[in-house]
Amino acid sequence: MHILDTSPTEAALSSVGVDLGGTSIRVGLFDPAMRLLGSRQMKTLVAEGPDAAVRRIAAAIDELVATHVLAGSKASIQGIGIGSPGPIDLREGILGELPNLPGWGAFPLRAALAAATGLEVVLESDANAAAIAEWKLGAGSKADVDSMGMITLGTGVGSGFILNGEVWHGIRGMGGEVGHSSVELHGALCGCGTRGCLELYASAGGLKRLARDVSTSSQGTEALQALISGANGFSAADVGALALSGDRAAQLAFERFGFYLGLGVANVINTLDLPMILIGGGVADSWNLFAPAMFETVRTYSQIYRLVEPSQTVVLESDRTFIGPAALGPVAGLLGAGLLPRLAGRTGMSRRNEDISRLANGFD
Ligand SMILES: [Zn+2]
Repeated sequence: MHILDTSPTEAALSSVGVDLGGTSIRVGLFDPAMRLLGSRQMKTLVAEGPDAAVRRIAAAIDELVATHVLAGSKASIQGIGIGSPGPIDLREGILGELPNLPGWGAFPLRAALAAATGLEVVLESDANAAAIAEWKLGAGSKADVDSMGMITLGTGVGSGFILNGEVWHGIRGMGGEVGHSSVELHGALCGCGTRGCLELYASAGGLKRLARDVSTSSQGTEALQALISGANGFSAADVGALALSGDRAAQLAFERFGFYLGLGVANVINTLDLPMILIGGGVADSWNLFAPAMFETVRTYSQIYRLVEPSQTVVLESDRTFIGPAALGPVAGLLGAGLLPRLAGRTGMSRRNEDISRLANGFD
């Protein structure tokens, strides 16, 4: 069933999406057709702690409801969906130890936001929320697939998987962390304790790491060295601009980036044989700079992909694995969060959370 085919009883219900990030929080109010009625953005102010953030989120929701909902009544709000950096313990609705949100570990986000707003709250990882948005409203919806993966290249590498019409959560909701699969066994040490994780290479920070490596090698160029040693630091976007201007060393950094991303994608295809894998996040805007190396690597490291490779990579073909850029851009996380309350009664996600709880309790 398509998400926007709302039943008459649900037709009038709006939903709230919250995209919680390390630097900012976005809150959006969506009408029943998932059109954005209004939104608020605020700084996360990590040091003030999660209770203060929940109070500010609740105030923003009250403001949006008062402005955009008839009579300012929360009765027509189906619920709140919130996407948070992972790992999250979905069984308990609490945050894990998050590098970008120091001091927020073990915070009961789901219960706290429900208490502050009086609304039902569905918690999900931000990467899963983005995958849900692309599945229901973005590239996955156009293709009408019931299984797909989405890899989000941002500060880190997030990933979410839809398998046979359900988000794959794993036992406690930590399933699908491709960003922490190792692609360089003797590589740099990751914050998770492993060496050579995908997100050390195929993220914004990873691209900077690769650019530094190239600049100090025999293939470095003066332009890349100047960029890296600049007094004000440099960003992944700066490396992209330099690569587009023709700098060979910056281009090489993107090719290595594409190689590592390709290893991650090949491992996913080898494991799941999916019809669609989308690449999103800020660095994915530089698609043309890394995609050729990524595709070459996927072909080299995945026999399955070689067997199901489309005749051309830009068009979806049935029974072929499509690898392409995500369609929704930076709003995917907020849209996916807004979809969560609607999906809860449809794809069994609430029940699924209970199943997870029951399963996990069985192991205690
Ligand atoms: Zn890691």
